[in-house]
Amino acid sequence: MTSDTTSGAAVPQTRHLQTSIPGPKSRALQEQRDAALPDGLGRTLPVFVDRMAGGIIVDVDGNRIVDLASGIAVTSVGASHPEVVRRVTEQAERFTHTCFLVTQYEAYVRVAEWLNAHTPGDFTKTTALFSTGAEAVENAVKIARAATGRPGVIVFSNAYHGRTLFTLAMTAKDKPYKTGFGPLPTEQVHRAPFPEPLRWPGAPAPERVVDEALQAFEDLVAEVGADEIACVVIEPIQGEGGFIVPPAGFLPRLADLARAHGIIVVGDEVQAGLGRTGTLFASEHDGFVPDIVCTAKALAGGMPLSAVTGRAEIMAAVGAGGLGGTYAGNPLACEAALGVFEVMEREDLPGRARAIEQQVRATLAPLVDPDRGIAELRGRGAMLAIEFVQPGRLEPAPEVAAAVAKACHEQGVLVLVCGTFGNVIRLLPPLVIEEDLLTDALQVLYDAIRAHADVAQPAGAPA
Ligand SMILES: *Cc1c(COP(=O)(O)O)cnc(C)c1O
Repeated sequence: MTSDTTSGAAVPQTRHLQTSIPGPKSRALQEQRDAALPDGLGRTLPVFVDRMAGGIIVDVDGNRIVDLASGIAVTSVGASHPEVVRRVTEQAERFTHTCFLVTQYEAYVRVAEWLNAHTPGDFTKTTALFSTGAEAVENAVKIARAATGRPGVIVFSNAYHGRTLFTLAMTAKDKPYKTGFGPLPTEQVHRAPFPEPLRWPGAPAPERVVDEALQAFEDLVAEVGADEIACVVIEPIQGEGGFIVPPAGFLPRLADLARAHGIIVVGDEVQAGLGRTGTLFASEHDGFVPDIVCTAKALAGGMPLSAVTGRAEIMAAVGAGGLGGTYAGNPLACEAALGVFEVMEREDLPGRARAIEQQVRATLAPLVDPDRGIAELRGRGAMLAIEFVQPGRLEPAPEVAAAVAKACHEQGVLVLVCGTFGNVIRLLPPLVIEEDLLTDALQVLYDAIRAHADVAQPAGAPA
């Protein structure tokens, strides 16, 4: 991989602190922001961005910050990949919008064809495009209801599916997402326990966790009544909930159980999809084949685009005019997605994700020790997280995650916190990040963990 194919050429792919972070220009803008914007809009790092390329964010003070977030798993191809920029620019000169429901354009069809061909399952599929992840999930539920004539939806503990009123009911975490927004349509939303080995009662072996979680799902179906449930919606790797990977065998067995009850299986690949985990879709790791797959985030390299791809006969349950939206499948976003698909294959970005996993594990795995407050390093590919707990116990330690994140931010490395308890640091670097840059950022993270978690120097670790 050379920097001229990954847009890093104009921006040096090195970390550089010109001022403290945030610098004076960012601080001045922050004051204006605080006066003009509501408090409900949170922020992770209070800097304002000037430019981005490859794995670097250049802020308005000239600091070069290493991007281990990708705008929350969006800019997997880099924030300004030349292939994406070229296509979006050319498309903007031709036309910016028609509303696909009014007059049509070819790029929409090509995006749908690619997703039909590459999402799991070798049955006939069709795809409808939208703008956001939550919109895709809502539409998957609409389609499943239309196809089954049933109202209910099963979701899981720790789930995150979005911030609209229905997806909020599907999302598990109350604070801050749901505070003050009720009542939510919770009557049709039923929650099953996600198989999370670390916190499963009694801490049995993973195979037992799978059996017990499937039993809990069966019990829930029996309690609600299968003829009341349209679909089960699951993230193949949980995102906001803490990068929790279900043990082997759970996802395909869940799909079999659900289908035996006529329940449609929806995979929410919004965060884990499009090469992030080392395969095009995270479902592939465990041979999971949903009936409907939702994609968004990395789909269009930063342009707003989401998709619902499903079995053609299920998708056909909605009559003409039932799906769509003014901006859904915007032509600039469709061209960007076609650029993403090309880059994904040409630069083997799933392969890059696997290389990133090896590099991260080599640096951080020696730190894992529950007795010293680091419970797990988990995830797949370039979707990896480290969980902080009270030493020797499983009680979450969000204060440690916050302190580690803050130390990284001050050193010019952008990391994000996640998890139901806010005690997990997650890494979502752009898949095109250069090896040396990642090495530098991981050393900063390693030092921050050493400084803030109760960890002794492990044998053979970097100095
Ligand atoms: C981010 C996310 C969503 C919501 O996507 P938006 O574009 O923010 O609406 C849904 N599901 C998962 C798994 C996500 O990570």
